[in-house]
Amino acid sequence: MEKRKLVIIGSGPAGYTAAIYAARANLEPLVFEGFFSGPAGGQLMTTTEVENFPGFPEGIEGPQLMSYCRKQAERFGTKILTEDVKSVDLSSRPFKVIGSRTQVEADAIIIATGATAKKLDIEGTREGEFWQKGVTACAVCDGAAPIFRNQDLYVIGGGDSACEEAIFLTKYGKKVYIVHRRDELRASKIMAERALKHPKIEVLWDHVIVKVEGDQVVRSATIKHVKTGKEEKRTAGGVFFAIGFTPNTDFLGGQLELEGNGYLKVAPGGTTTSVEGVFAAGDVCDHVYRQAISAAGTGCMAALDAERWLSAQGLID
Ligand SMILES: Cc1cc2nc3c(=O)[nH]c(=O)nc-3n(C[C@H](O)[C@H](O)[C@H](O)COP(=O)(O)OP(=O)(O)OC[C@H]3O[C@@H](n4cnc5c(N)ncnc54)[C@H](O)[C@@H]3O)c2cc1C
Repeated sequence: MEKRKLVIIGSGPAGYTAAIYAARANLEPLVFEGFFSGPAGGQLMTTTEVENFPGFPEGIEGPQLMSYCRKQAERFGTKILTEDVKSVDLSSRPFKVIGSRTQVEADAIIIATGATAKKLDIEGTREGEFWQKGVTACAVCDGAAPIFRNQDLYVIGGGDSACEEAIFLTKYGKKVYIVHRRDELRASKIMAERALKHPKIEVLWDHVIVKVEGDQVVRSATIKHVKTGKEEKRTAGGVFFAIGFTPNTDFLGGQLELEGNGYLKVAPGGTTTSVEGVFAAGDVCDHVYRQAISAAGTGCMAALDAERWLSAQGLID
């Protein structure tokens, strides 16, 4: 079985940044960039304009940004495999990484498998319909886009994320509706109060969105009262899923400690996990910031941490 000093699992901003740093430090990293687990390149492959990543004053398309990151990692000698990691064995050293086709041993591992935004299967919101044409899952990322300015915006959810995203969107939208299928919010008291007393936010209790329509972009949302079944078509300029994210940790088989909310547990302000020699970066261990630049930042940290750890173990010169 091939042996590597460092294997990086995941290929979003965190994984590629870790690869750039590790490759430049001569660690000859191997990246499993995923295949069925999501688009190689991560969440930004599903979006259009990225306007808040430094270095691109005019903005840059998400897939273009990730293609640059990938090329930069390869330039310094990173080897990239377009396959998923099915499982890892962290019980003995070197660790074992089992991909869908390739198996390798690794002295150190960086987990950068990101998180997947939860969506509901609502007519009009899918890829090829109005996904990224007014329907999105990240208010902080997309809320400032011109199409949402001065529009009626709909946020789906009832927890902290929904309240936070709705409050954020009041900066841009004419009015923000939280569409919640129950008659009370699940959000923490403080977040719920902030949302409920905001003059631009209204909660549509006991409602779900059943259809989104438009032309080039979203123009309307049909809402349905869950108790009476009554439907109403309303003007809408944007629909935001805010029902949480699923961190991609299943393949770890419970070998690393998780937070109560399912995110990978790392040392505060660092990248070390519960197993020495395994590091984590990006959205898989960050339920707070969830941005490309913060993922890239922790990717850099994980590579530096891995290098120092390998050196301290005498596994590299
Ligand atoms: C619609 C949308 C728009 C966004 N817009 C912006 C924006 O404008 N600006 C911004 O800063 N942020 C934006 N974000 C957030 C940003 O995309 C994420 O914060 C960032 O991509 C997280 O990077 P990551 O490297 O941690 O993980 P991800 O980008 O989630 O990438 C993880 C990668 O790991 C792979 N993977 C998962 N499991 C496995 C496995 N078992 N084996 C191998 N590979 C695996 C996945 O396929 C994926 O490629 C947006 C998010 C969404 C959903």
